[in-house]
Amino acid sequence: MIHFNVPPFFGDEFEYMKKAVDNHKICGDGEFTDKCNKWFENSLKAKKVLLTTSGSAALEMAALLCGLQDGDEVILPSYTFSSTANAFVLAGARLVFVDVRPDTMNIDENKIEQAITDKTKVIVAVHYAGVACEMDRIMDIASRHNLKVVEDAAQAVTSMYKGRFLGTIGDFGCLSFHETKNFSMGEGGAIIINDESYNLKAEIIREKGTNRSQFYRGQVAKYNWMDYGSSYLPSDLNAAYLWGQLQHADEMQENRMSSWERYLKAFKSLEKAGIIELPFIPEECVHNAHMFYIKCKDIDTRTRYINFMRENDILCVFHYVPLHSAPAGVKYGRFDGTDEYTTKESDRLVRLPLYYKLKEEDQNKVIDKTLEFFGLRNA
Ligand SMILES: *Cc1c(COP(=O)(O)O)cnc(C)c1O
Repeated sequence: MIHFNVPPFFGDEFEYMKKAVDNHKICGDGEFTDKCNKWFENSLKAKKVLLTTSGSAALEMAALLCGLQDGDEVILPSYTFSSTANAFVLAGARLVFVDVRPDTMNIDENKIEQAITDKTKVIVAVHYAGVACEMDRIMDIASRHNLKVVEDAAQAVTSMYKGRFLGTIGDFGCLSFHETKNFSMGEGGAIIINDESYNLKAEIIREKGTNRSQFYRGQVAKYNWMDYGSSYLPSDLNAAYLWGQLQHADEMQENRMSSWERYLKAFKSLEKAGIIELPFIPEECVHNAHMFYIKCKDIDTRTRYINFMRENDILCVFHYVPLHSAPAGVKYGRFDGTDEYTTKESDRLVRLPLYYKLKEEDQNKVIDKTLEFFGLRNA
């Protein structure tokens, strides 16, 4: 069986987890959490990074930091994971869904401005498949309308746009280290805070509404309940696992990228023949090989393709029923303008197995069976 995903594991994760146990510090904000925060601050050239219990938790923190009032509106794509939307619903906002661009599946920057009302407070840029949204345009719209920008960079850890790392461009960036993402800690994530004036508030929200972080730094004599908050800091055991992964960051990235490039090359003939479409990477974007997808002609072809692959012991998946057509999407939001591409394009998209150390022979089988299905085996 060729799995769709195998979580990354390098071998020294346990050694660091043992160290956390030996430190007698397995709760949050121990040695390894601190090391990981700093690793991301240095690697992504970010001012402030805080590990969280998940990408969803990072999004919830970002939504709380945006200071939304009941009835405020948040603009986001409908083609995204439920967590992107949940965070803002929990913060009391109404969702305004905007169509995606068919080439990148990212929010269409040309359809954002028409969705803005007096109530709009935030634009959420989801960098689908680790490929950047058109950030210059989005930041320009946000500054003209005085809106905050939250980057959902859950899939885009170490990806870039015009030389800047994703998550460091908007007001807040949210990363995920779920087992399906490039780096993993089981469940986990991080929030990037790009405006220093939010640092203290972020620490308080993350530490159950207390200023314990200041207390640990010796800045206050005792800690106190300062404001609303929750427990958004992960166990140092999970951070130790992540730290083990970060030691192999280049190796992981090169390995994923070479699999990604092999798929692209292998399927060029299918694309040329007009049978499928392949991912598009705009010139100003450097992606992180998070995902390889193809687009079939229509949903019926996709269903037959997925079934054919499964009969051959290969697991390919689709995802994201557009949120605006889901029960909660209907309840909490509206779609602005017409759904020109969101439903049509998501119906055609299918993801192929891609993970650190996908074996060459397994990838060859995925490629051969795909060519066979589409009738170009010997082309
Ligand atoms: C994975 C993902 C999330 C959620 O991350 P978790 O760590 O699983 O909570 C949010 N948004 C997008 C786009 C994702 O892909």
